Amino acid sequence: MMALQVRDLKRHFGGVRALDGVSFELAAGHCVALIGPNGAGKSTCFACLAGQLQAQSGQVLWAGQPLLGLSPAQRLQRGVARTFQVAQTFEALTVLQNLQLVLSAGKLSWWDRLDQRSAQAAEAFLEAMDLQPMRHAVVADLSYGAKKRLELAMALAGWPDARIGTSAEVPRLLLLDEPAAGLAPAERQTMMALVRRVADSGVTVLYTEHNMDAVFGVADRVLVLMQGRLVADGRPEQVAQDPRVRQDYLGQ
Ligand code: ADP
Ligand code: MG
Repeated sequence: MMALQVRDLKRHFGGVRALDGVSFELAAGHCVALIGPNGAGKSTCFACLAGQLQAQSGQVLWAGQPLLGLSPAQRLQRGVARTFQVAQTFEALTVLQNLQLVLSAGKLSWWDRLDQRSAQAAEAFLEAMDLQPMRHAVVADLSYGAKKRLELAMALAGWPDARIGTSAEVPRLLLLDEPAAGLAPAERQTMMALVRRVADSGVTVLYTEHNMDAVFGVADRVLVLMQGRLVADGRPEQVAQDPRVRQDYLGQ
């Protein structure tokens, strides 16, 4: 059975059909890119999967369970984590404090209660995202690349079984909205290698992009969205040959 099953997902904004009947399935542990030009509906798709927006119709099953109608927190409880196109972090706090907040699931009322347990738990995520050297840096002072890596670390730390005081293991779906956008080429490469590593650890990953260059060597498969509809689906080298993709999207 496919881990994620999306059927005929629709979301309109007035007359704009942001998602106009989108259907696809993802196999567990695959790393899949959702590409398409600006306005194609990629972020809307993520918001409908993670719960920030309600779909108007359609069905979404994750690990066999329906997701639509659940809150973002309930979806996270079932293993659906996400990042945003613009990194969402606490700017005035340090890298470590940002992670500690997620790991302690917002249960803390004062910073001085950020305890040793959450500091220890944070180490694994700092290491996974190459953030140890800047653990005490204030987020506002980070490069954009480091901020994007912190956001990814926070998404990983947000799963129920990563958090302090919870133990339920859940199948993990990670939705990354333009993880490499705005990054310099070297940072882009680092970020995409980290994304691939997360997928190799058994997480099902769906990420958006508008360039094919963050797809080759990273994605197992590519879905192409245009004007709210999927127009191509295949391995990166197949999709790059698709005449519609070449003409409408790659401009060739
Ligand atoms: P992408 O992420 O692929 O660039 P989006 O999902 O952000 O595309 O947008 C798809 C379409 O839906 C666009 O035409 C956009 O203007 C519209 N749209 C997205 N969010 C909203 C919103 N909250 N209100 C009105 N229109 C929206
Ligand atoms: Mg977007």
